[in-house]
Amino acid sequence: MRYPVTRPAIPDFARYSRYVEQANASGTLTNFGPLETELTARLESFLGVENLLIVSNGTIALQVAYRALGVAGRVITTPFSFVATTSTLRWEGLTPVFADIDPFTLNLDPLAAAAVDGPIGAIVPVHVYGNPCDVVALERLGHERGVPVIYDAAHAFGSRYGNRSLLTWGDAATLSFHATKLFHSVEGGAIVFRDRDTRDRAKAICNFGLRDGVIGGLGTNAKMSEYHAAAGLTVLEQVDEILDRRRAAVARYQRELDGLVEFQRWSAEGEPNGAYMPILLADESECLRVQARLADTGVGTRRYFHPSLNQLDAEGQLQPCPVAERTASRVLCLPIYSDISMADVDAIAGLVRTAVCDQRAG
Ligand SMILES: *Cc1c(COP(=O)(O)O)cnc(C)c1O
Repeated sequence: MRYPVTRPAIPDFARYSRYVEQANASGTLTNFGPLETELTARLESFLGVENLLIVSNGTIALQVAYRALGVAGRVITTPFSFVATTSTLRWEGLTPVFADIDPFTLNLDPLAAAAVDGPIGAIVPVHVYGNPCDVVALERLGHERGVPVIYDAAHAFGSRYGNRSLLTWGDAATLSFHATKLFHSVEGGAIVFRDRDTRDRAKAICNFGLRDGVIGGLGTNAKMSEYHAAAGLTVLEQVDEILDRRRAAVARYQRELDGLVEFQRWSAEGEPNGAYMPILLADESECLRVQARLADTGVGTRRYFHPSLNQLDAEGQLQPCPVAERTASRVLCLPIYSDISMADVDAIAGLVRTAVCDQRAG
C-alpha cells in the first residue's frame, strides 16, 4: 500500500538509546523502575491528571480497572468499539449488556443506557475515536444506579472536555499505548483513577497482589518494563508535534471531503485529537466497493469497527442495536499517522472522492 491506514510514530533512536543506557546503568529493567516513575509523572503533567497508573497494555488496563473497582455482574457498554471493550468484560466473568449509540457522536447513548432494566455492576462507555462521551449524563446515571463508570479512553489521549482533560471523568479511564495509537510505548497502557486508594489497590493487582512485599489479594502481572518506558518517554517528547500534525490532517480531510461523505459529530466541549479519520458511506455496499477501489489505488482503509460487538458476542445477538449495526456496516477509517503530509492527505482525499463518485455514477 502506498498509503497504509496507520504507521507507528518511530521513537527517535538517539534519545531512546540514552534512556536505555540510563536503565542499564540503574540496574533496574522492570518492576516500577525509575523510567516508569518518570513517565508516570510526565504523563500526569502533560495530560493534567492525577492517580495515573502505567500498565503493560490497554487490554489489561480495562481488566485491572474492573477488578480494582470490584465490578461484578452485568455491565452496560457500547457495541461500537474495538473488540477488547467487550472481550475484557467476558474475560473477567462479567456480562456485557449492549445499549445503542447516538447516530451522530457514535458514542454510547445515555438514554439507551438508562433504559437498561435490572441490576448492573458498572457502565463502560468508550470515547470513540477520541470524541468525548456525554460524560455529564453518564456520570449522573452511574450515580443513580450506584455503580462506577469506567471509560475505555484508548482513543482519547490529549482529548479535552471543556478546560480539563477528558480523562478526569469517570471512576477510571483507561488508555492504550500500543504502537498504532496516537501516543505509544510500543506496548503499554495506563489507568487514570478518580481516587488514590483505588489506584494503590490497582497497583498491587498489577504486581501479583503484592503490597509492601506481602500478598494482600489476587493479582496478575501488568507491569511495564523500563525499555518500554524508555520508548514512551521518547515518544512523549515528540507528542506535541504528533498531535499538531494529526489534527491538521483531520481538518484537511474534512475540508476536502465535505459534502461527499458523513463525519462523526464531535462534542461541543472538545476538539478532534486526530487519533482516527473515520468516514461514513451511504451503506454497506457502497462502503465495500469504495474500500476495494481504494485498495486498488494504493490507499489502505480499515472497517474500524466492524462488526457491531453485539453481533459478535453470542448473548449480544439477543440485544439488537440498530444504530450501531448500521454505523459499523458503513464506516471506514482513512490513513492517518504522525508523519502524514498535507500532500498525502490531498492525494488520498482525491482518490476517495474519485472512488465514491465513480461508485455513485454506477
Ligand atoms: C487499542 C484499544 C484497546 C486495547 O489496547 P491494547 O493496548 O492494544 O491492548 C482497547 N480498547 C480500544 C477502544 C482500543 O482502541
